[in-house]
Amino acid sequence: MNDVVIVGAGIIGMLTARELMAAGLSVTLLERRQPAKESSWAGGGILSPLYPWRYPDAVSELARMSQHAYPGLCEALAGETGIDPELEISGLLTSGLDDMAEAVRWAGRFDVQLEPVSAERAMQLEPQLGVALQDCVWMPGLGQVRNPRLTRALRASLDHAGAKMHVNRPALGWVMEAGRIRAVRTAGGDIEADAFVVASGAWTAGLLKDTGLSLPIQPVRGQMILFRGPPGLVRRITLHEGRYAIPRRDGRVLFGSTLEYTGFEKHTTREAFESLCQSAFSLLPTLKDLPIECHWAGLRPGSPDGVPVIGPHPELSNLYVCAGHFRNGVVLAPGSARLLADQLTGRQAAIDVAPYLPEVASVK
Ligand SMILES: Cc1cc2nc3c(=O)[nH]c(=O)nc-3n(C[C@H](O)[C@H](O)[C@H](O)COP(=O)(O)OP(=O)(O)OC[C@H]3O[C@@H](n4cnc5c(N)ncnc54)[C@H](O)[C@@H]3O)c2cc1C
Repeated sequence: MNDVVIVGAGIIGMLTARELMAAGLSVTLLERRQPAKESSWAGGGILSPLYPWRYPDAVSELARMSQHAYPGLCEALAGETGIDPELEISGLLTSGLDDMAEAVRWAGRFDVQLEPVSAERAMQLEPQLGVALQDCVWMPGLGQVRNPRLTRALRASLDHAGAKMHVNRPALGWVMEAGRIRAVRTAGGDIEADAFVVASGAWTAGLLKDTGLSLPIQPVRGQMILFRGPPGLVRRITLHEGRYAIPRRDGRVLFGSTLEYTGFEKHTTREAFESLCQSAFSLLPTLKDLPIECHWAGLRPGSPDGVPVIGPHPELSNLYVCAGHFRNGVVLAPGSARLLADQLTGRQAAIDVAPYLPEVASVK
């Protein structure tokens, strides 16, 4: 029998599997479609929340833990698999702030390098800017990963380590017995385990409904476009009026994103494409000369304040949840996976788990 079955093979499910296997447990992943082809593929890979001081401290604590883990994780994965997740410390330039004092205070509390900069300095940092950005802060220590590469590396490393992965096999429900889960139901039969983790992104609330836990996790669509440019043309992650550019190492520039409450509708729209182009061309006019390679949409696992749900089900003793990472699932993934594994294996967690517990998030 499996020690643990994880439902959902996005970045959260796969990193949780890595943590649990490192603790000596055998893990099976159940994936409805293909691993990491939902939000974890669609995301931008910025390793910081946007405007991080506007989130509850629980998000900053988890982000700090993850940011410390990322260099070692990327190096280990590249070594194990030959796939480089392309961690880049490109810095984050944020403009148009009316809460600069709050940003500075937050940076002091969380020991984050953050400096207010003038419009001239902003232009030096990113010479392609088309507008003189006002009220800016520069966070030089922040960066990005190339999330599709990161998750490809994760999958390869899990395969290599002997994790079982069932693809195109959705979890359909649960077999419950005496305050526990005995098995997860699938079209190919029930799968038993000692413990179960729900890491199903935007689909989490539906999967937990029959267990008596009602979580306020809902799909929030995000659309992005991708420009193909020469390496080094755009240098910094730049955030202006809620929209951002992310320059990849090979010259590609991602530009995003929309925030749309449209249920499980994942298609792209002409309206969003035009709006993203308009924002992109005004922030970085050089993008007008580049071909647009791709336009996509993904479903974020939205939660009311962005604090993910990590921990045991309040009533079913061997069922755990790791979900609801909203706009920050890439940056928060290593810390979340560690926190879940700490709770499942009975280890002392490095930070207080209370703000993330399912009973705190549940809708009564
Ligand atoms: C446009 C956009 C930009 C973003 N930018 C960033 C960013 O810059 N930085 C950042 O940190 N985050 C970003 N995010 C957010 C981030 O991508 C998500 O928070 C993160 O990917 C969530 O990971 P996950 O594994 O929980 O969900 P997912 O990647 O969606 O994975 C969940 C998996 O569960 C599977 N599943 C669902 N139901 C079942 C079932 N019944 N049985 C089996 N499997 C099931 C799904 O098929 C899916 O593969 C962005 C998201 C979007 C859409």
